[in-house]
Amino acid sequence: MTIPQSSAPATFDLLKELTELPGISGHEDAIRARLVELFAPLADDVRVDPLGNVIALRRGTDGLGRRLMLAAHMDEIGLVVTKLDRGFLRFTTIGGINARVLPSQDVIVHGKRDLPGIVASRPPHVLPPASRKENIPSNELFVDVGLGAAELSELVSVGDVISIQRETIQLGQGKATGKAFDNRACLVALVLALHRLQDVRHTWDIYAVATVQEEVGLRGAVTSTFGVAPDVGIALDVTFADQPGAASDETLAWDKGAAIALGPNIHPNVYAKLVDTAKSNEIPYVVEVLPGNTGTDAWAMQVTQAGIPTGLVSIPIRSMHTPGETIVLRDIERTARLLADFAAGLDGETLDNLRLE
Ligand SMILES: [Zn+2]
Repeated sequence: MTIPQSSAPATFDLLKELTELPGISGHEDAIRARLVELFAPLADDVRVDPLGNVIALRRGTDGLGRRLMLAAHMDEIGLVVTKLDRGFLRFTTIGGINARVLPSQDVIVHGKRDLPGIVASRPPHVLPPASRKENIPSNELFVDVGLGAAELSELVSVGDVISIQRETIQLGQGKATGKAFDNRACLVALVLALHRLQDVRHTWDIYAVATVQEEVGLRGAVTSTFGVAPDVGIALDVTFADQPGAASDETLAWDKGAAIALGPNIHPNVYAKLVDTAKSNEIPYVVEVLPGNTGTDAWAMQVTQAGIPTGLVSIPIRSMHTPGETIVLRDIERTARLLADFAAGLDGETLDNLRLE
């Protein structure tokens, strides 16, 4: 079939749009709806599975049904209301949000309607002197939406989620900052890769999957990988870019391209093919050694069914799991190129080449 051509959106514009949408683990409706719209013109079929994963299929040209799955999680970390306390909201966290940076954050409380609020904390003047220099434990923080107790209880219930409200802005020299770059930056790369694949012949079927609930235990990757049953899977996520105070052996250079992971979670021949693709297409990349659990969708993907040859491609970001994650925009574009060129390079011999002796 003929796929209607559409020009790729600008990287920053798409990053801004996707990162500013809410989508806390298990409550991904808003981001999911937008992803379905974005994938639809780029795919032959788009469906949503029972857990809420979005699964888009671009059919390959040879009709043999060999499957590449490219998966990036759509959920983000956030907060959930645990108690209405005299007009204020007590909360706990969903996913590994960095509670030390919560005080004074703008938030949206997703009650009967969305309510703007602030993570409030007591002024230093009323704290015992010893506590003034300490981090505030999250159980001493509360959200204030400015409503009295009666009106608040009409609009907000225990279990309603609270997302961080943060505008994504451009920084100097092609960088950007905002929330939920983990992992919407990879969804931007995935959309850009699908745009590139409109102009490139690919023989394999390509499944672009936006997974749910990664931040609470890779839940969506488990079911979507089982459902797609790919021959090769690539998980996409963010990783740690170097920054002051972080150990250089635990972080990666940024603005050097995507990180291609290596370790027991990764099939060695998928790793080798990714590196080969980057080299032969002159796409910058760095190697990331991950000696155990990668903490990504790749971990679930690898052990689905009888085992899936799995790779992991990551984009280095600074200040992960804070509302001020920071990225180099062209690392997103380099990742998109790597994914598209990898997908286009799969052929009739790939499966034989992947087999372990
Ligand atoms: Zn994360």
